[in-house]
Amino acid sequence: MPYNQITPAGTIAPGADPKGPSRKEIRDIIETALNKDDFSFSWSSRNRQPYEGTLDTGSNNVSLYIYAWRISNGGRKNLPSEKRIQISQTVDNVGFHRPITAGQKTLLLGIYDSPSGTPIFAAWDAASNASHTQKSCQVQVEDLCAALTEHIHECQDSKGNTIFTFLPDYLGDYIDLVVAGNALAIPAGAAGTLDKKVKAATLPSRKKRAIKSTDKILAQIGNLSSTERTAVTKQRVGQGLFKDLLINKYHNQCALCRITTYQMLIGSHIKAWKDSNDTEKMDENNGLLLCAHHDALFDKHLISFEDTGDLIVSPTLSVAEQHELQIGAIPSITVTSGMKPYLADHRSKLKK
Ligand SMILES: [Zn+2]
Repeated sequence: MPYNQITPAGTIAPGADPKGPSRKEIRDIIETALNKDDFSFSWSSRNRQPYEGTLDTGSNNVSLYIYAWRISNGGRKNLPSEKRIQISQTVDNVGFHRPITAGQKTLLLGIYDSPSGTPIFAAWDAASNASHTQKSCQVQVEDLCAALTEHIHECQDSKGNTIFTFLPDYLGDYIDLVVAGNALAIPAGAAGTLDKKVKAATLPSRKKRAIKSTDKILAQIGNLSSTERTAVTKQRVGQGLFKDLLINKYHNQCALCRITTYQMLIGSHIKAWKDSNDTEKMDENNGLLLCAHHDALFDKHLISFEDTGDLIVSPTLSVAEQHELQIGAIPSITVTSGMKPYLADHRSKLKK
């Protein structure tokens, strides 16, 4: 009887063992995943296992020992859903005995080359697998498949050890959060599904990464005009994580009109990026979700808002211009106490 596999449709059916990924493909999959979402990763050794590298999670630099093999059929025909990685006998197992700390982590990974189109990771606890003479780690294909819909999924092996299965987009978040025993450091009582808990728990790191990567680009273009620098910041930040936070806050709609077209919406800073400290730069209270038209008016300080939420219009706009720009249609906004210091800054810059 053939072993169960994940099908292109993301279901499970008997089928052939996926051929890949190869060792090189595994390293490429890891490298690609760890250079997304403002992560920055570099190898220091990748010729033999454990591969070594350094990941900047935003919060800190983590030195990584990485063991990674393809996930293939388990070998027991009476267990058609069992998959495994087989750890080579010759592998240097120094990393297995290394304690996991904030600054150093060992990853024990399997990668299943799912025909559904995206590779799926399984992550085991290196320490609990350190003493095996036959170092093989098992996972059920159903638990691999669950990652396709849940993005990150928690399960156990037959000995009760925790395994996570996840899509490549979650590799960096997994590394950021993993602690001893292969648990994830998620605050008790966090709400939502596991993928939402993971993203909430990594939000501080994601904010720091977004600031770092934007400041890095701004440093590289130091000779551009302030207008050009503002445009770059808007592109980097107004369309990135800051926008996503405001999309959530404003339910995907411009705070001043009915536009909901994602590409037209911008995460607009109330107090400018260049004038903000790191906390202010990624503070949702320091943002409005605006369409391109309203962002231009607000960003140029042609309109602003009182603490009551009432609109203020720059006296530099003539009545005719105000009519053409449909200023009269702009509603008052809801101002929370956290927004008031930022609005005070914005009002002080109103065009006079
Ligand atoms: Zn608008």
